[in-house]
Amino acid sequence: MAERLRGKPVVDAMKEDLVKRVEALKAKGVTPKIGIIRVGANPDDLFYEGGIKKTSEGVGLAFEIFEHPEDIGQEQLEKAVTDVGADSSIHGILMFAPLPKHLDEKKIRQLIPVEKDVDCMTLGSAGKVFADDVTGFPPCTPTACMEMLKFYDIPLKGKKVTVVGRSLVVGKPVAMLLMREHATITICHSRTENLDKVCAEADILVAAIGRAKMIGSSYVKAGQIVVDVGINADPDNPGKYCGDVDFAAVEPLVEKITPVPGGVGSVTTIVLCKHTVMACEMQQN
Ligand code: NAP
Repeated sequence: MAERLRGKPVVDAMKEDLVKRVEALKAKGVTPKIGIIRVGANPDDLFYEGGIKKTSEGVGLAFEIFEHPEDIGQEQLEKAVTDVGADSSIHGILMFAPLPKHLDEKKIRQLIPVEKDVDCMTLGSAGKVFADDVTGFPPCTPTACMEMLKFYDIPLKGKKVTVVGRSLVVGKPVAMLLMREHATITICHSRTENLDKVCAEADILVAAIGRAKMIGSSYVKAGQIVVDVGINADPDNPGKYCGDVDFAAVEPLVEKITPVPGGVGSVTTIVLCKHTVMACEMQQN
């Protein structure tokens, strides 16, 4: 049976560290604060927002929601985002996306100041991530993958890592972060030939596809570490969710695996808090 790399111990350790860092900032008269920009009331956004509020409060972060109606105009939202960006009491900004279709999201994203862009909404942050400039924050999910691997002492230097998925939210940035740690990366996508063989050759397999249970037994090998980023509706259990990995088929074959739920996804929110604390620390200098 594979060792299950659960998110909870990672979250607990990160919380302990963040509480101390927030206290140190407060002792200097600064309370790190996250600003959430939400347009409309999408149930998924509201669910995530509730989780962020609870986790932020748990580590002592302040939290403010900037809520806008679904039919807000382009100019109004541009002004609102610019105003939050200029608010010196706010150190990290998360804007829920996608925005409603009538808005030019590409343009609005770029109005978030890079130093407050704690979930890599801007091209400036993406550029920093790709240039190994640690003042740029990667999206929270790739950072969550790295926090998991670090916490469980998974060696990366010189290891063969296959990442399935090339999105700007997960696949590409996680590949960059892994390469920063001197892993040798193969990035796969929907046109990759012999995908199962390429995956099975890796020491570490990162699945960020968005296809429920796609990674089956032919994609893995003994001794492998599997990081499942996927969050999908479980076709076999209505109302539940599952990863991109067929856990029942893969778990008996590999050495270590992140479960879904309770794996990478459960670490994402505390990463958002960590990025906000880091942003606040950097803004003091
Ligand atoms: P995405 O933007 O849809 O990208 C999916 C990637 O998978 C694309 O690069 C796509 O290739 C590739 N792909 C799709 N079908 C494939 C196939 N049959 N074979 C090989 N590659 C295939 O998705 P995403 O935003 O990166 O998210 C990926 C997964 O992570 C989803 O399950 C999502 O729910 C989950 N996720 C979790 C969190 C979290 O933990 N909080 C956050 C974000 C995302 P092409 O580029 O060729 O189309």
